[in-house]
Amino acid sequence: MRLDDPCIKKLEPPKLNVFERTYLPQIIDGLAVTGRHILGVLRGESITIEYPEQPHRPSPNYRGVHRLNKDEEGRVKCVACMLCATACPVHCIDIIGATAPEGWSDREKYPASFVIDELRCIFCGMCEEACPVDAVELTSFYDLTGLSREEMIFDKTKLLSVYDLTKDSEPSRMGNLTTF
Ligand code: SF4
Ligand code: SF4
Repeated sequence: MRLDDPCIKKLEPPKLNVFERTYLPQIIDGLAVTGRHILGVLRGESITIEYPEQPHRPSPNYRGVHRLNKDEEGRVKCVACMLCATACPVHCIDIIGATAPEGWSDREKYPASFVIDELRCIFCGMCEEACPVDAVELTSFYDLTGLSREEMIFDKTKLLSVYDLTKDSEPSRMGNLTTF
């Protein structure tokens, strides 16, 4: 990509006035949030939950464990373009592409192997942003644990199983559908 490419958007930092440059508005905003919480506690409102008995619902844009999406025919959506692995700042995605099986006329390649090291991942969401076919997505799973490092290295089968687990409660974010 060239520097004069019209697709590149240049963002200017916002211009702050003298008052804003003192950071007093931001401090006042912060104190207002704290004040609201204090008033809530005084009114008897709880700001904590009894986890794990009471499940925590993260916000819709929470970035948790990945999944590999499937298409309408139940095939992995990924076309092994490697864009997610290239975009990943910590290089925790490892893909081995192969020629698509016979009959998969809509693509040339598919991932023979697709591995994400969830322990190295910083959950930045760059892979999700980079994917041209919405094949890799982050889910709201936040409490996945493992007893060994190997358990936290997710292969294709495991990533597809996360899709099966979450597809009903979390339709594709990239498809502009609602999340829970
Ligand atoms: S969320 Fe970020 S760090 Fe994790 S695999 Fe995707 S691009 Fe890499
Ligand atoms: S998940 Fe998306 S970006 Fe990554 S290799 Fe597959 S198609 Fe490309």
